[in-house]
Amino acid sequence: MSVVDRQEWDVVVVGAGGAGLRAAIEARERGARTAVICKSLFGKAHTVMAEGGIAAAMANANEHDNWKVHFRDTMRGGKFLNQWRMAELHAQEAPQRVWELETWGALFDRTKDGRISQRNFGGHEYPRLAHVGDRTGLELIRTLQQKIVSLQQEDKKETGDYESRLKVYQECTVTRILKDGSRVSGVFAYERETGRFFVLEAPSVVIATGGIGKSFKVTSNSWEYTGDGHALALLAGAPLLNMEFVQFHPTGMVWPPSVKGILVTESVRGDGGVLRNSEGKRFMFDYVPDVFKEKYAESEEEGDRWYEDPDNNRRPPELLPRDEVARAINAEVKAGRGSPHGGVFLDVSTRMPAEVIKRRLPSMYHQFKELADVDITAEPMEVGPTCHYVMGGIAVDSDTAAARGVPGLFAAGEVAGGMHGSNRLGGNSLSDLLVFGRRAGWHAAEHAAAQAFERPGVSDPQIDSAAAEALRPFSAEGPAGSVDAGRPPENPYTLHQELQQAMNDLVGIIRREAEMEQALEKLAELRVRAHRAGVEGHRQFNPGWHLALDLRNMLLVSECVARAALERTESRGGHTREDHPEMDRRWRNVNLLCRLADPTGGLAATDPERGQIDLVRETTEPVRQDLLALFEKEELVKYLAEEELYQ
Ligand code: FAD
Repeated sequence: MSVVDRQEWDVVVVGAGGAGLRAAIEARERGARTAVICKSLFGKAHTVMAEGGIAAAMANANEHDNWKVHFRDTMRGGKFLNQWRMAELHAQEAPQRVWELETWGALFDRTKDGRISQRNFGGHEYPRLAHVGDRTGLELIRTLQQKIVSLQQEDKKETGDYESRLKVYQECTVTRILKDGSRVSGVFAYERETGRFFVLEAPSVVIATGGIGKSFKVTSNSWEYTGDGHALALLAGAPLLNMEFVQFHPTGMVWPPSVKGILVTESVRGDGGVLRNSEGKRFMFDYVPDVFKEKYAESEEEGDRWYEDPDNNRRPPELLPRDEVARAINAEVKAGRGSPHGGVFLDVSTRMPAEVIKRRLPSMYHQFKELADVDITAEPMEVGPTCHYVMGGIAVDSDTAAARGVPGLFAAGEVAGGMHGSNRLGGNSLSDLLVFGRRAGWHAAEHAAAQAFERPGVSDPQIDSAAAEALRPFSAEGPAGSVDAGRPPENPYTLHQELQQAMNDLVGIIRREAEMEQALEKLAELRVRAHRAGVEGHRQFNPGWHLALDLRNMLLVSECVARAALERTESRGGHTREDHPEMDRRWRNVNLLCRLADPTGGLAATDPERGQIDLVRETTEPVRQDLLALFEKEELVKYLAEEELYQ
């Protein structure tokens, strides 16, 4: 039996990005003793990288904006597959969450009359993104971190201990959610520096681990995005929703190779940047789909006038939702009209004076200067699609953020599914983190309080089994008599590269049936080999070991993406099928749920035929009538399934 340190909390939050920190603040303020655990240093989560801003209908830049317009834009962006109640709560509560951040010390950019400045972004009818230059995520995390420290100072005054009610365990990775029967009872984790195992016991666990981008070769995502939370939920018995929807951001860097995939913020287009092909043509005018035709400019002149006079002109098509722009760029490159390094040109140099570019887009200016030796005030950037965000995620209750079917498990932020439907609008993630981070913390605290007299327990065999699983890479050859006996260990880095290549090439931006079948075969092969992923050395800071453990998660999540993408025979948002290029209204009310094939939480790792994931179809809940009434009937006809229209 392993001897591991155990500590008791009311709520454990896994992840210290925007969603995790907002959840932790809420839980602690509602009286729950709360622990936060994160893979990286406190204050360094992926949220820090967010650039453009937080979407909230505060109406500072255009008085016509309100939550109903924001709701409509979000549903259109998600092609009506959004969990509509989440989209409603999000649009209603986002402004409050931004003002609250300001009272906690966030310093947003200002309008001339001193209000929070709001900028344009793709798919948003009005300027709606509250921002801090192009470093909004950094300010958001700084503010939440400061709030946590101030709560700890209050606790010190009252109890003599800063960490008595709110403690951060940084550079620690959770590998299993622990359960007592069906109820959550805590998490099993290791400290990255020492390799020491420990258990945090709690009746409520909030998963806020972000996305899955590191399963793809070209991505804007940070090293932390290995789909851990998605996999932890699956292994604990919760389903994942609509995992086929992966957002490929249209503008990542394409050159030099070492920085391929790094994000070029949408603010560049929001502030006036235009896309051109190798012939100098603003090609986006050729790619406005029917559903958006009435909302976008037909000529360059009209598009340009919109920046000054948005009430009397339509917006330029460079500001279509991301899925549309990414597909258009892909098509231009494929047609031989790309830039020298396989992207297209994004130009601000001819659109704004140099000093305005440097002031409004300081990070982009430095990013291109330092990484590509390109001066964006004088020449265009080269850009192309990059894997950016996952819309699919843990299936949650819209109001409480409770994960479906596992009492005590909650999820918020990028790891949770539903809010963004088939495609997320830029800026809607940071607001999502705040709105649903708060809701997750609130309901996790309430759930914990309700369990106070009957706390779920953690058994020793569970801890032993989690420890054995984590130690497996040190004895990858397997004991005599086991299936792996005598076979050489596999290098986790090689496995990871092969996985990324397969997902990029076979389940990427444009999908085909035969390629996805091929991807599933490759994933099955990798799964068997990953069972023998082996590492040398010891448990003290050993990145190879960490990657070997992350592989389990990336393989699980990749299988979900590939299986769901194969099943959905239409194109919608972040899921484009070359063999089924149209959006099909019959799929509007279909959700695809992924569950672990073995409900006991075991992994069918050595059986390539079986796969690890079962897929089921579920009918979506009909959109509430008063929300449908916010749209014109002619528009609804384009989206809703036949039977929904009759209702
Ligand atoms: P994160 O901020 O990623 O936090 C995840 C946390 O989970 C981290 O602390 C990590 O260490 C921890 N973690 C992960 N696995 C484990 C584990 N196993 N054990 C313990 N801890 C774990 N969105 C917008 O709305 N506006 C923008 O302008 C914008 N710009 C972006 C720019 C870039 C370059 C990128 C990549 C994304 C951008 N996004 C933007 C998207 C947005 O930043 C993310 O969707 C959002 O920050 C996710 O926040 P989160 O709290 O869900 O997760």
